Amino acid sequence: MTQQFDSMAELLNAQQQDHIQHRLVSADQRRKRLQQVIDVVVAHHQKFAEAMELDFAGRSQGFSVMNDILGSLSSLKYARDNLETWLESDHRQVFSPYDQLGSTARVEYQAKGSVGIIGTWNAPLYTLLSPLACALGAGNRAILKPSEVTPKTAEVLATIFAKELDPLLVAVVTGGVEVGVEFSHLPFDHLIFTGSTAVGKKIMQAAAQNLVPVTLELGGKSPVVVSDSSDLQETCRRIAVAKSNNGGQLCISPDIIYVPKYNIEQAASLILETYQSLFPEITNNADVVPIVNQAHCQRVVDVIKQAQDSGCDVRVSHNIDDLTECVTNDKRLPLHLVIAPPKNTRIMQEEIFGPAAVLLPFDNINEVIDDINRRDKPLALYYFGEDQAELDNVLANTSSGGVSINDCLMHAAMHDAPFGGVGASGMGHYHGHEGFKALSHARTVFVAPKHDPRAEWGLLPPHNEQFKAMMVAQVSAD
Ligand code: NAD
Repeated sequence: MTQQFDSMAELLNAQQQDHIQHRLVSADQRRKRLQQVIDVVVAHHQKFAEAMELDFAGRSQGFSVMNDILGSLSSLKYARDNLETWLESDHRQVFSPYDQLGSTARVEYQAKGSVGIIGTWNAPLYTLLSPLACALGAGNRAILKPSEVTPKTAEVLATIFAKELDPLLVAVVTGGVEVGVEFSHLPFDHLIFTGSTAVGKKIMQAAAQNLVPVTLELGGKSPVVVSDSSDLQETCRRIAVAKSNNGGQLCISPDIIYVPKYNIEQAASLILETYQSLFPEITNNADVVPIVNQAHCQRVVDVIKQAQDSGCDVRVSHNIDDLTECVTNDKRLPLHLVIAPPKNTRIMQEEIFGPAAVLLPFDNINEVIDDINRRDKPLALYYFGEDQAELDNVLANTSSGGVSINDCLMHAAMHDAPFGGVGASGMGHYHGHEGFKALSHARTVFVAPKHDPRAEWGLLPPHNEQFKAMMVAQVSAD
């Protein structure tokens, strides 16, 4: 499409004006819009996968297709195939006695207008296109702002979308933090931000200037509870598989792993053994997703080294003489497990977001619950075990964005369930019906009866003496 705009503000204004002119978007139009994006993603998936490979300097195309292309397509298709049901009339019970006088009421889910979507580098397409599925399903337009950390993917997305899609429906703006700052100050009808908790706070402050509602998809230190009722071998295998995903650069990657004290040695060995079997080599192994850039790789190395320098017990899946060489080499790191580090280490305080994890020994499950509750509410919580009473205790007495039991990451793959954080890990949801509702305005429509009974019931001024008595007579606790 050829239409050009001089500024982001002008682009947003044009989308919002067009929305006002064509506010009613039928289910059929929504499906066609979603299909258009699906067709573009399918037609250009190879270019996207190549761009992600270049941005990470070696993320395998197969992984990018699985994570970002198929992940995005399944969100877009789920919205396409379910929005008709979501749009069905939602009739509500009218209060008495108006219900007997012929009143009706319903909730209509109305498109909000134009949705701003800010994405991250770790899933550079998915964090834009999965929210886009909800935005389009709800009848909105959208402007996407990819991460500057993955500039090639951002550029390919911007070029392809500009060529294939009407910018009044979906547009992409690219640039660094300064563009993000300007973007987050625009008067969108809704803003979805995926990123760090620190930047999430800035986004919310910026959005508050225009009272723009926000969905914040943030991160944190997701805990894993390994019960002594678990099959330790299978549990450790699944934890290692989860840690291997995207080089640990996932918002819901296991971060702190609580293990019964007597099992800690065995658990560490089993996790590292699985990691070794998945990746016989680390350096130059195309199956290992590199850390996205040298700065992020250096950050992960610094966090590990700080734990080592503080005298922590650090185990590693593959012996590498000098971790610093990995930073300048291919940015692929082995898995590091840090056992029982002190609270003041960086690895205990910061989201790791790389191939490392903390193992904390415990004697009693209530210690684990207390420790989880002392920290920020995490995005994910994992429980491995077969002890139903213990699981009920953990679920009832902790909070987290979502939960997977006897595996990691899986709940986030659900389309028929909300995904989102709580407290420091975020607010609001996307995915499925909840995503549709989050990006729609729930508008209550009340239809009055033909006959207005309020005057004959003595409810209108001038009030007689009985009015107050009539009101007071209805004050009851029933
Ligand atoms: P980030 O917060 O540094 O950046 C995210 C986006 O915000 C980027 O597009 C960036 O350009 C923009 N940005 C940066 N500073 C800004 C500012 N001051 N104002 C406006 N925009 C700004 O995050 P990141 O490093 O790209 O991603 C990693 C973080 O994202 C981790 O914390 C991870 O847990 C989280 N994450 C969460 C989810 C989720 O679904 N909850 C998914 C992926 C990643």
